[in-house]
Amino acid sequence: MEQSFEAKEIQPIKWDSPRLWIVRIFKLSTILLSVLLFIVILHALGNYRRRLGCAINLYGLDSALPVYTNDFEGKLPQAKTWNDLLITYADVDVSAFHCPGSHSAGNTSDYAINAALYTPGKSASGDTVQFFECIAGWNQTGGLDLFYTGNHGNKIGCYNSVRVPEGQFISAEKVGQLKWE
Ligand SMILES: [Zn+2]
Repeated sequence: MEQSFEAKEIQPIKWDSPRLWIVRIFKLSTILLSVLLFIVILHALGNYRRRLGCAINLYGLDSALPVYTNDFEGKLPQAKTWNDLLITYADVDVSAFHCPGSHSAGNTSDYAINAALYTPGKSASGDTVQFFECIAGWNQTGGLDLFYTGNHGNKIGCYNSVRVPEGQFISAEKVGQLKWE
């Protein structure tokens, strides 16, 4: 039996031109950059949404104080029970005590009231801090020793009637510059 071997022509490997590779790398880089940009924008929007929700809570707490004091001869809710009293007498919902940047739930508050507001014989001026973020608890009253930055990166939400310059959120390094007394 006769076998025939047909000589196959060996095809040389065709390499794409360097220009084509540059175009491919450029396209891939563009796609990767677009994905990265999308992730960065999503992250920034999430941060903005959490800060906005927190700022609304702080504003709501500030608005609830006069509702309470009007009914109690100008007196602030007692420091030991201020969360409970604002719920009972100023129609504050417990959800208003939860910062969107925190995982707190139930009867906890991510906000504390400034203890300096209770200093006898002293009336706080408009630029004195009223509410600020702290580790979730209940009926917390204090000052600089209590603030917590974990809900918004290195910043905390604070509220005073004239607002802090950074739009209610201030870095841990600058928080001492606010008026706490
Ligand atoms: Zn917050």
